[in-house]
Amino acid sequence: METCDVLIIGGGPAGSSCARELIKAGLDVIVMDKASFPRDKVCAGWITPAVVEELELDLDHYRQGRICQDILGFKTATMGGAEVYNDYSHTVSFGIRRYEFDHYLLSRCGARLVLNTAVSDIARQHDHWLVNGNIRASMLIGAGGHFCPVARYLGAKVGKTEQSVCAQEIEFKMTTQQLAQCNIDAETPELYFYPDMSGYGWIFRKDQYINIGVGREDTGKIANAALQFMELLQQQGKIPADINAHFKGHAYLLYDHAQRKIVDDSVLLIGDAAGLAYTESGEGIRPAIESALLAANVIKDSQDDYQLQKLQPYNDLIVRRFGKKHFKQKSWIPDKIRLALANKIITNRFLSRHILLNRFFLRSEVDTLYR
Ligand SMILES: Cc1cc2nc3c(=O)[nH]c(=O)nc-3n(C[C@H](O)[C@H](O)[C@H](O)COP(=O)(O)OP(=O)(O)OC[C@H]3O[C@@H](n4cnc5c(N)ncnc54)[C@H](O)[C@@H]3O)c2cc1C
Repeated sequence: METCDVLIIGGGPAGSSCARELIKAGLDVIVMDKASFPRDKVCAGWITPAVVEELELDLDHYRQGRICQDILGFKTATMGGAEVYNDYSHTVSFGIRRYEFDHYLLSRCGARLVLNTAVSDIARQHDHWLVNGNIRASMLIGAGGHFCPVARYLGAKVGKTEQSVCAQEIEFKMTTQQLAQCNIDAETPELYFYPDMSGYGWIFRKDQYINIGVGREDTGKIANAALQFMELLQQQGKIPADINAHFKGHAYLLYDHAQRKIVDDSVLLIGDAAGLAYTESGEGIRPAIESALLAANVIKDSQDDYQLQKLQPYNDLIVRRFGKKHFKQKSWIPDKIRLALANKIITNRFLSRHILLNRFFLRSEVDTLYR
């Protein structure tokens, strides 16, 4: 039997960030993950400078033997439409590979790691948790992503009543020949929005790696979307013709459409398990890290008393940070006009830079948390 103060289920950015903060405060933490690391995570791998700051990431150290692509601008368009190019002439984001990034964060967090071990059973016994019958913990944190077993324990109806984003992606290292045929500038990712604004496709080069994907909130239409997008890019001569299109899929919740209970007696959820990705962009790494930091602070403040009353401030802090939810209500602006406006924002260089990129994708006006 292993015992700890806090057991974190999931070693992604949320789990490792929370573990790091709790360990700094002197708590005994175990991180359990069903995967062994390094592991792949379906993701475009785009992070903003805010993420670097909140993680206290030493980029010089991180870059040693890992991909960290500087991003200086973006091309945006509607699917198949004319592109708008916005150049910032300085680094406004980074491209990382989740295979490397998540492993780096988990290795440095200092927690005891129980890897290659899926959660099979969660039981509440008196004043503690017993997980898989052999790990005993006073506090349980669900950081297991969209399908987190702790979220299910708290009643999430995963894949049933929730409206999720479905996304498909491939990432691979290009051969010398493929690199020669690739017309994507590594410093300029490209984003292509569906005219009905249900999602977008991206093409993102990180040094010799290429990442292609699509994400949409209307699940029925995702099946062929990634293939069609790739074919469109090939027709346009942007990417090599000989790509092995083994797309991998994943789902997650956008903040405004997530309705999960995120805190209860001696338990809380962080990151995708809590459904926190930004509604406008689908960016989930920054909310995962911010929720991890907020949760760690509430746990530290609770002084070993993990009753709901002591953990409830986490809920309030999440609302304060991410805002009140705007569940899909019928807008007073007719759909036709809303779509026309959205298309205008994407295709106009000024609007695309200031609204789509600065406000929604880079969130450059939102201060970092705590640091
Ligand atoms: C296609 C796609 C592209 C994306 N692109 C971006 C992007 O460019 N930038 C961005 O900011 N966000 C992006 N996101 C969102 C981002 O990937 C997530 O928001 C982020 O990974 C959330 O981190 P997390 O730590 O909460 O969960 P995860 O990274 O999903 O980590 C959860 C961990 O829990 C483990 N786990 C799951 N179930 C169990 C179990 N039963 N037992 C034990 N362990 C378990 C998993 O193995 C995993 O390691 C993208 C998402 C998708 C699907």
